[in-house]
Amino acid sequence: MRATQLYAPTLRESPAEAELVSHKLMFRAGLIRKAAGGLYSYLPLGWRTMKKIMQIIREEMDFAGGQEIMMPIVQPAEIWQESGRWAVYGDEMMRLKDRHGREFALGPTHEEMITTLIRDEVRSYKQLPLMLYQIQNKYRDEIRPRFGLMRSREFVMKDLYSFDRDVDGMNISYRKMYDAYSRVFERCGLKFRAVEADNGAIGGGHSHEFTVLAPSGESSIAYCENCNFAASDEKAELKIIKSAPEDLKPLEKVKTPACHTIELVKNFLNVPIEKTIKAVAFMDDDERLILAFVRGDHEVNEIKVLNSVENANHLYMADEKLIKAANSCPGFMSPIGISDAIIVVDQTVMEMCNAVAGANEIDAHFINVTPKRDFDAEKIIISDIRMVQAGDPCPHCGKSLKMTRGIEVGQVFTLGKKYSAALNAKFLDEDGKEKVFEMGCYGIGVGRTMAAAIEQNNDADGIIWNKNIAPFEVVVVPVNAKDASQLEFAEKIYDELKIAGVDVLLDDRKERAGVKFKDCDLIGYPLRVTISPKTLESGNIEVKIRKTGEFLNFSRENCVSQIVELLKSL
Ligand code: ATP
Ligand code: MG
Repeated sequence: MRATQLYAPTLRESPAEAELVSHKLMFRAGLIRKAAGGLYSYLPLGWRTMKKIMQIIREEMDFAGGQEIMMPIVQPAEIWQESGRWAVYGDEMMRLKDRHGREFALGPTHEEMITTLIRDEVRSYKQLPLMLYQIQNKYRDEIRPRFGLMRSREFVMKDLYSFDRDVDGMNISYRKMYDAYSRVFERCGLKFRAVEADNGAIGGGHSHEFTVLAPSGESSIAYCENCNFAASDEKAELKIIKSAPEDLKPLEKVKTPACHTIELVKNFLNVPIEKTIKAVAFMDDDERLILAFVRGDHEVNEIKVLNSVENANHLYMADEKLIKAANSCPGFMSPIGISDAIIVVDQTVMEMCNAVAGANEIDAHFINVTPKRDFDAEKIIISDIRMVQAGDPCPHCGKSLKMTRGIEVGQVFTLGKKYSAALNAKFLDEDGKEKVFEMGCYGIGVGRTMAAAIEQNNDADGIIWNKNIAPFEVVVVPVNAKDASQLEFAEKIYDELKIAGVDVLLDDRKERAGVKFKDCDLIGYPLRVTISPKTLESGNIEVKIRKTGEFLNFSRENCVSQIVELLKSL
């Protein structure tokens, strides 16, 4: 490819709204352009990288036994109604009607579509296991589309679904996908971790998120340096923290004027924060009041709360009205003496004694609260509902956990019978009995992977691509393309590199050398081959490694094979 024929509009400025370096660089390097909030066009360079990532994914999915298919993006409402997700998916689902008023959704994911496809086709255990995948646009009307391709409303996803006879088979498929994902992200040159994850609305058994480590990431990960434990903060299971034994004192109500935060109460009563119990009030879609209680220095994990309450689909901050209707009062809530609320108490709170908690009336708290004695065990749910924090003991080995941030680029789930049972997808097993499929689902965000790669690999001058996903592996730059002999020399090397199988660009633009070099660094080709008047004189060819900034000199005779070798070593 010649740069004079390539549409690669580079820019000096990035859009005002761009916060992340990947968003800025994708825009400046001419990879993407915005059409509307969360909707992007991919320009040639961006699409070349997208295609390379998709190719890596295809190869690894096929190697693991996957078969590529393509399903409709437009999905009939009926299949979502049948699985029960039409009502629960909420505003994130883009919905539309056809000319007859029939309802459809633009697929945010395809469990319903594939399960109904398979239930009508696959009849016998002999056809199993089955792993089918597609790479196509998905649609999610995100509350806050942002960060360019990281969180957009239309995005390219690879989604694979596995169908097995039994749980053992499902776990084998899961393992195959886990390994395939590891290879995909390794080949993309990413530093990542597979972290234990929450299953979210999708339901089912276990799950891992493949998370690219980057300080700008939206996910927070707890990990242990001693063992290989890593989990998303939403999921990280925590152990009970025991308190030192004390003599129990009698429960007492005290005045705490205007002390409506933990900070104010602890200062007013002069107690350590670990001796306080704090409350967070939620409500669900049915306007049920859900009160969550954790130790004052801990944070409530909303996902864990949601998972611990039966039949709750979403949580929202509670209305003051609801809190008052339950005979309580915001800022002074506690499980003691409250009516008409679902009460979820963190397991560590149950170990506390002589603590401070609200008194369900304004300007008053209880002191000497001992939950095991004072909370009505019949009326509360005791669970692990707190957020992990740095320094918490590792649930596997007990050593201190560390926290880091990351970008979720892929997720693998075992679904079990969740969708196959809901959609009545059955096969005949060897014993002649009808059974429902054991399923798994596995997604990779292609655009988010591209963005994460840039987020992890860039410098002040621009992007630093890994060779496997760079839009071109090598750029050949005659410093003065107006000089016919230089251009001719450059063209020869360009032709030879092409013949040697290198994905190469010839920057034959008649721009100043400085402009071309800046563009090369901004776009981030792994190797730049420079043809200058010196090259013509000496026959020495200068090669710059983008990642290290190192310059190497190769002789004319061997330069092609040396460039090929150098690429291999990157
Ligand atoms: P998130 O928690 O970030 O919203 P998710 O868990 O809902 O993502 P999945 O349903 O697991 O996402 O989708 C599989 C993959 O699709 C994700 O790992 C991510 O790479 C990608 N993805 C999901 N939502 C978006 C989005 N809005 N924009 C770009 N990529 C996305
Ligand atoms: Mg996910």
